[in-house]
Amino acid sequence: MSLLVVGTVAFDAIQTPHGKTDKIVGGAATYIGLSASKFYNKINLVSVVGEDFPKEAIDMLRRHNVNTKGLQIKKGEKTFFWSGRYHDDMNSRDTLDTQLNVLEGFDPIVPESYKNCECLMLGNLMPSIQQKVLDQLKKRPKLIVLDTMNFWMDNFMNDLINALKNIDVLTINDEEARQLSQEHSLLKAAKKILNLGPKIVIIKKGEHGALLFNGNEIFYAPAIPLEQVFDPTGAGDTFAGGLVGHLCATKDYSFENMKRAVIIGSTMASFCVEKFGTARMNGLETKAINERVKQLEGLVRFKSFKP
Ligand code: AMP
Repeated sequence: MSLLVVGTVAFDAIQTPHGKTDKIVGGAATYIGLSASKFYNKINLVSVVGEDFPKEAIDMLRRHNVNTKGLQIKKGEKTFFWSGRYHDDMNSRDTLDTQLNVLEGFDPIVPESYKNCECLMLGNLMPSIQQKVLDQLKKRPKLIVLDTMNFWMDNFMNDLINALKNIDVLTINDEEARQLSQEHSLLKAAKKILNLGPKIVIIKKGEHGALLFNGNEIFYAPAIPLEQVFDPTGAGDTFAGGLVGHLCATKDYSFENMKRAVIIGSTMASFCVEKFGTARMNGLETKAINERVKQLEGLVRFKSFKP
């Protein structure tokens, strides 16, 4: 039993109102793995990097219980690179550059020992690659979660629509939900997206929390209010990592437990944004996570009353 994570392992260059970084280690699968590792310890990674990717970063993943047997290292090639600039509100950003590099010809190979996974997290990546990973599994995992972004909608919408037919949960941000559904209302957007295949849609709204849609049921998880957000990069992936890590650890895929998973995702994202890149996630302690989950509970708990 294991959690299989596929997604980018990348270099990022980030600009926020608080400063900028040169190339630092990032990528959807990196954030997902680090976050999920706080809840579950059998995480298997499928991804690709170039020869330029630092060995220390791979060691860092291994130290967090992320098995890197399925991480291909391409000689003479360059790692996927993404650069983004956040607006003053820190909730929206512009992509300045996306260099696919090793991703361009990436043929994901799922090692035999990964093929019986309990949960599959299809992190942000080319939709056809996400599908190829799913196709190699021996049996359908108990839970398939997919995350994506506008870049893939702009360039590979048909492949994405096909991949959505096979999954359980889609995590997506509000702007992307509107783009995918062509609806402004998030309620209408969620309904349309649910008709595309997923049983559950989670719409992430940055500092405004996340909405979980399951048929006609809706649950809302706020974000932890923070005095300062340094770098929102990876918050969505960290959210997804916490969510799937908790679900895989508890093996309970009910809507009730899905609500807890969204609270955990929201909590994990609150740590990610406190420092640049993966700095805050690396070595984050369980005690701190538990305290914030309690804080979130306190934020939404109230005695019911008759008006
Ligand atoms: P998030 O802030 O959660 O949307 O994730 C940011 C991470 O996604 C960064 O570390 C990037 O390396 C990675 N990323 C950016 N663009 C893409 C893309 N088109 N496909 C996959 N990963 C990407």
